[in-house]
Amino acid sequence: MPIRIAIVGYGKIARDQHVPSIEADPGFELAAVVSPRAPADAGVPVFLSHQALLDEMAGKLDAIAICTPPTVRLDVARAAFEAGVDVLLEKPPAATLGELEQIERLAAEAGRTLFTAWHSQHAAAVPAARAALAGKAIRSLRIHWHEDVRKWHPGQDWIWAPGGFGVFDPGINALSIATRILPRPLFVREALLSFPQNRQTPIAARLAFQGEEGQFEADFDWRYTEGERWTIQVETADGVAIELLDGGARMSVDGEAQPVKDRGEYPALYARFAELVEARRSDVDREPLRIVADALLIGRREIVEPFL
Ligand code: NAP
Repeated sequence: MPIRIAIVGYGKIARDQHVPSIEADPGFELAAVVSPRAPADAGVPVFLSHQALLDEMAGKLDAIAICTPPTVRLDVARAAFEAGVDVLLEKPPAATLGELEQIERLAAEAGRTLFTAWHSQHAAAVPAARAALAGKAIRSLRIHWHEDVRKWHPGQDWIWAPGGFGVFDPGINALSIATRILPRPLFVREALLSFPQNRQTPIAARLAFQGEEGQFEADFDWRYTEGERWTIQVETADGVAIELLDGGARMSVDGEAQPVKDRGEYPALYARFAELVEARRSDVDREPLRIVADALLIGRREIVEPFL
């Protein structure tokens, strides 16, 4: 029997990635979507709220994928667990670490599956990079995550509101890869956060991590208009240089391109979710969110030109 799943939050990522991945996976059946603005083109029942979905589809729904902005996730997840439904959380899994811990607690109490779906961890080259770095001492880490906010988040106001993450919305993808491939945890030593004068979240951020020697740093910038630069460079103490390019889709070792197997980030996410549901287990990774929270706690703030 396929897992009957509904998407709560029928916006850009739901349409671009979740719907096609669910439709292509025989392990799932798209049962409904929830959208406060009721789109006409969903091809499945549309509900105006998650509560209406859970009430009206009681007994006919196994899981939901929460693809809303982060700040409403706790309420949606709580209602899902009360209704006996499993939960996949788009990244970032919640607006705060406290909310994520509460979601995890509620899942455990209800005996439901919870999956923090960090899509970039399923990029093609991530497993190979993780294997190459396993057990190694690391000399340096350089993350560059530069993109154009107007291209990737057109018209999205929530990213600039409290709890919207600003440039950490894409930056957390880089952190989800770094925490997956590095053999030890990352701790923020200092951060510089650039807030547009008229916004509540940063448009750029520079992080320095603790490290015995060499540089450990991340540079996130939403003002980059020459395409995208999504790279992670790691140098091991024994002199091997590993570079992840295109958000983890490609990898080179000492400048030489490596073969990787690309299953697609979201198809891989749904395959993992199906395994977890089948096994009645959860997979909760808080590390990328913990690093963002730490940066926001200790970061120095500079005010930059307004974002209009
Ligand atoms: P989006 O286009 O603004 O979509 C968010 C959707 O959630 C909107 O349709 C919104 O409906 C709906 N929504 C808001 N509150 C809701 C609620 N209480 N119940 C049900 N639906 C609600 O944003 P997005 O780009 O898809 O991003 C959503 C999440 O996916 C974010 O956490 C983001 O980090 C993640 N993500 C985005 C991308 C990307 O490329 N955009 C990639 C990977 C992951 P209304 O418009 O009617 O308010």
